[in-house]
Amino acid sequence: MAVKDLDWANIGFTYIKTDYRYVSNYKNGSWDEGAIVTDATIVMSEDAGVLHYAQECFEGLKAYRTEDNRIVCFRPDLNAKRMVDSANRLEMPPFPEDRFLKAVEEVVRANEDWVPPYGSGATLYIRPVMFATGNVIGVNPADEYQFRIFVTPVGPYFKGGAKPISIKVSDYDRAAPHGTGNIKAGLNYAMSLYPIVKAHEEGFAENLYLDAGSRTYIEETGGANVILVDNDGNLVIPKSYTDSILPSITRRSIAYVAEHVLGLKVTERPVKLSEIPDFAEMGLCGTAAVISPVGKITDHGNVIEIKSGMDEMGPVTKKLYDTLTGIQMGHIEGPEGWVHEIP
Ligand SMILES: *Cc1c(COP(=O)(O)O)cnc(C)c1O
Repeated sequence: MAVKDLDWANIGFTYIKTDYRYVSNYKNGSWDEGAIVTDATIVMSEDAGVLHYAQECFEGLKAYRTEDNRIVCFRPDLNAKRMVDSANRLEMPPFPEDRFLKAVEEVVRANEDWVPPYGSGATLYIRPVMFATGNVIGVNPADEYQFRIFVTPVGPYFKGGAKPISIKVSDYDRAAPHGTGNIKAGLNYAMSLYPIVKAHEEGFAENLYLDAGSRTYIEETGGANVILVDNDGNLVIPKSYTDSILPSITRRSIAYVAEHVLGLKVTERPVKLSEIPDFAEMGLCGTAAVISPVGKITDHGNVIEIKSGMDEMGPVTKKLYDTLTGIQMGHIEGPEGWVHEIP
């Protein structure tokens, strides 16, 4: 067996069917023992709860090779925990965290030939997903579920460096106050599709969502949290007073690195859209891109230029990016347990 011979720099972010997936089914009140299987398809009832009432949640993380050819992933324990939170909010039986970690290890090891080579910039994206397979017609939680993890290799997020992006303030809302914005539910994405297609047509890379209640405070984009750097070079993280921001693992890791590795001051507080011109740098963070710098925000007729500009990442953002990716790659010593080796 050998690493697959793909054009790693150009595979993009699309589904490529790999050899194995992990599946466990929930029935009669418990999860079965689970197994690595080859079938990439799912056969279920036309009346499955997921198809009607969107009882579904997912996770996203990546595995990659280190310089010394170990296969690792980044803080998978936090994905396990977040999926438990998502499941509880959707009245789904949580998949135990220790079993989640073992399943990630098993499915990555089974597909090790699909883990891109060190230095290619490509990674193996890991997609855990959980959905209601049991029959439901009245609005109720189902009594049967499937937990599945599949993997697919993805190309480098940035080709030729991370260029600042231009985004717009959306007229739509991503998440209701005290709704499901703080969990990783597929339904949150369903309603962001119309606004993102529109935004792309208008030439914007992303939608910035404001708090749905007052349309005053910034929350996050469709799939990434926001970080800001003030004029003193300190980090400010928008906080939702209605708890409708998804707790990004990348953002929490950046906050830790900023405070404990780089010695910056870190403040988490509600941030008004009207305050944005006061900041020096802005970035979007998530597993896929780590950090995408934002250069410009269009709020209807009004264009807000971020001080760091449209040419390159701001200096503090760059430092955060380099430090976090350095920890992920094993070039910088990070906190205990952040880089998790696949046995
Ligand atoms: C997954 C996700 C993020 C990023 O979270 P990470 O754990 O950093 O990958 C941000 N916002 C939303 C809405 C998400 O679904």
